[in-house]
Amino acid sequence: MSVLAVAEHRRGDLRDVSFELISAGRELADELGGELNLVVIGGDVDGFADDLNRDGVDTIYTVDEGEEFNHGVYTQTVEQLHAELDPTALLMPNSVNGLDYAPAITESLDIPLVTDTIALEGGQPVEVTREQYGGKVETTYDIDADQYAVTIRSAEWPTAESSGDAAIEALDADIDEDALGTTVNGFEEVGGGDVDITEANVLVSIGRGIEEEENLPLVEALADTLDATLSSSRPIVDNGWLPKNRQVGQSGKVVTPDVYIAIGISGAVQHVAGMKGAETIIAINKDPNAPIYDLADYGIVDDLFDVVPELIEEFGGEAPDI
Ligand code: FAD
Repeated sequence: MSVLAVAEHRRGDLRDVSFELISAGRELADELGGELNLVVIGGDVDGFADDLNRDGVDTIYTVDEGEEFNHGVYTQTVEQLHAELDPTALLMPNSVNGLDYAPAITESLDIPLVTDTIALEGGQPVEVTREQYGGKVETTYDIDADQYAVTIRSAEWPTAESSGDAAIEALDADIDEDALGTTVNGFEEVGGGDVDITEANVLVSIGRGIEEEENLPLVEALADTLDATLSSSRPIVDNGWLPKNRQVGQSGKVVTPDVYIAIGISGAVQHVAGMKGAETIIAINKDPNAPIYDLADYGIVDDLFDVVPELIEEFGGEAPDI
């Protein structure tokens, strides 16, 4: 009874969730009394394998196929390795990539899949917990199957830190090029790449509460006054009001500033996934029941159109007329 976890990398770097998968996978492997094996596909596989060699990992399989994520390469490779290792549990990240390939693999292998998992108890049967309705409800599923798969939410398990002595094995995956369906020609960062919100110490983050694009200068003035960087929730990016590289959250960037000021942001679970690591969280929201107040250190329950101009004046700036 073993666990197989699929590591994730992007643009030459392993993502944090790869090391969280090791922690989750080791706990599960201990419950099952078996091995934790990892596979890393594409990119600098040898360098990645060295980094992934953390305590508790038994074998790291490297698959030297392409540089960036390719759906067909991942599905074919994981299916082959799954057939070879016959693991009880298959762990994958609940990321954009993970959610791309996990359903395809589990459908093909005909095994149950639970996505966006925040806790795992027992090994077989396993209790899998996930949140629903924007984090208002937690649901636990009992999976009593010979084999199963889960995708884990980032930042729910600790990062595996201490180095290990895993065996590293290069795997010669048998990729059927005709069945790939897509070719990855390169990677292009979405516009506005001048600002890296993950580097900012103070973020002024705006959400749907701003109502209209014409009102953005108000929060831009606050960011200028506080010498902060402007970020946002996803609807602002979806509306095309700010570029994608300003988006905080599950499908945006994970940020860990000293101060995060969430203005007119409700605190949906997908947003919180990207900012809960901030040192101090300040919320401005007129709804006292907004979920953002569950994690805010300080809050102002009021209309942002009244509060933000006052803050700008208080810190020596000038509020624009909007
Ligand atoms: P809303 O939820 O509409 O909240 C607006 C808030 O503004 C409300 O709480 C309201 O009380 C407050 N408000 C309104 N007017 C005022 C006012 N005048 N003064 C003060 N407060 C006011 N979201 C992300 O942010 N990042 C992601 O990466 C992300 N990824 C996602 C991935 C997937 C697969 C899915 C399904 C969703 C994702 N989402 C993401 C969307 C997420 O579920 C929410 O829809 C989104 O975060 C809501 O954004 P919001 O808080 O700005 O808007």
